[in-house]
Amino acid sequence: MVSRVIPVDPFDLIIFGGTGDLARRKILPGLFRRFCSGQMPLNARIIGAARADLGKVDYQDMMRNAISEFDTNRNVENAQLDIFLAQLDYVSVDVRGDDGWSDLAALIRKDCINAYYFSVSPGLFGDIASRLNAWGLATPKARIVVEKPFGRDLESAKNLNAVLSAQFQENQIYRIDHYLGKETVQNLMAVRFGNLLFEPLWNAQYIDHIQITVAETVGVGGRGTYYDKSGAMRDMVQNHLMQLLCLIAMEPPSHFDPDAVRDEKLKVIRSLAPVEAYHVVRGQYDATLAKNSYRDDAENPRSFTESYVAIKTHIENWRWSGVPFYLRTGKKLKARSSEIAIVFKKLPHSIFGKSSDEKQNVLAIQLQPNEGMTLDVTIKEPGPGGMRLIHVPLDMTFADALGEHSEESPDAYERLIMDVIRGDQTLFMRGDEVEAAWKWTDPIIKAWETRNDVPKLYDVGSAGPEDAMALIHRDGRRWREVK
Ligand code: NAD
Repeated sequence: MVSRVIPVDPFDLIIFGGTGDLARRKILPGLFRRFCSGQMPLNARIIGAARADLGKVDYQDMMRNAISEFDTNRNVENAQLDIFLAQLDYVSVDVRGDDGWSDLAALIRKDCINAYYFSVSPGLFGDIASRLNAWGLATPKARIVVEKPFGRDLESAKNLNAVLSAQFQENQIYRIDHYLGKETVQNLMAVRFGNLLFEPLWNAQYIDHIQITVAETVGVGGRGTYYDKSGAMRDMVQNHLMQLLCLIAMEPPSHFDPDAVRDEKLKVIRSLAPVEAYHVVRGQYDATLAKNSYRDDAENPRSFTESYVAIKTHIENWRWSGVPFYLRTGKKLKARSSEIAIVFKKLPHSIFGKSSDEKQNVLAIQLQPNEGMTLDVTIKEPGPGGMRLIHVPLDMTFADALGEHSEESPDAYERLIMDVIRGDQTLFMRGDEVEAAWKWTDPIIKAWETRNDVPKLYDVGSAGPEDAMALIHRDGRRWREVK
């Protein structure tokens, strides 16, 4: 098969926090895959910059181990890995001081793209930005990639935006939300705006409601101390779920162009109605036999942090007037599943009798574990004996539908890093988007804090707290099964 991969321009990618968990599990294995696919030119360089006192060869060895351990999608070929590793370098740098910066500055080539990945704790983002400037590295060719979390409320996000924009233009700042790098998430736009079929139905006249679910089976694991200061609202809703909601609800942009897309997403966030207290349910997983509770995992016996949130919200505009959006996300639930379900209205009249008019078409878009889409349609049950109707899914699992092409589908991180090098910001959050998202979530969090809200307990391995079921049952609707 002829490769459709177009190599990017030569670059130096400097990874601050290049020895950390994210670099080892996602960034380096992702870059190796891009290298194997022919997208990374041989004169590109990846420079790890972190506190550890390592030499170039030590770093190459560390990343050899990381890639062998975490690149689960392919059998690592040693010959290719050797060539890739030869493109790696390392500088020991303290981003809080000046140690190592002159070595780093001397290493970076001025005649190619310079991308700086801030894969360190958010408290260090400002230090890196100002030192890049002080060492003459914040050039017009430079771009910075900023990891999540981007602030913990509106005020801190504004401060961070101000710190970064003091050194860099907005078109040099890439705020990562890896959900946007998922193949299916981009397919949301392709489905909506590349087909005539759906868009005429994509409004309050035909859609009954929308459900967005991000369910995890894992708990807070080793991130307990960090997570306990954050919770599901900050960790998942403000960024990932809001981004999914924007892509479903936005108006068609005039072009598939970064600012045109982001302008439309911003309008959605700004149109979200403030959420009433009785439209939010917070939960915390409880211990079951042999399973830890959230408080055990977070090592905080008095924690009131939520590991689960369910919200009912509305978008106040013509397209979505009266259509509820139900969002939920949680940890240690019964299955790992991320899904967006567009539930269409019931038939206005059924010619087949009472039983058939209860059925609703559902377009379900699965983000994980398997990426794909199903459209539930009503058909006649095969066989003699009258007109009995059944509901069946038209199934399109991408791996099946795309066959060999699905193997080329890059992981979210590798796609996003290549977008940074290409200078394409479409799948990155703009500063005003992040601030608008915090402006919507802040009052919800503040209300919990003010009344010392106690999260509802739910069993490990369940579908979430009972109150979350009631949230949707009250409206005569049901959550889709998490499976
Ligand atoms: P980590 O603690 O594993 O690694 C931190 C890195 O920062 C190390 O390489 C360390 O040497 C470096 N570092 C710390 N202080 C430094 C200093 N003063 N000067 C230079 N280097 C310094 O963290 P991580 O899990 O890799 O996370 C990195 C960032 O990515 C964080 O912002 C995190 O929120 C975000 N993130 C991580 C994950 C993940 O799966 N690990 C997922 C999403 C987002």
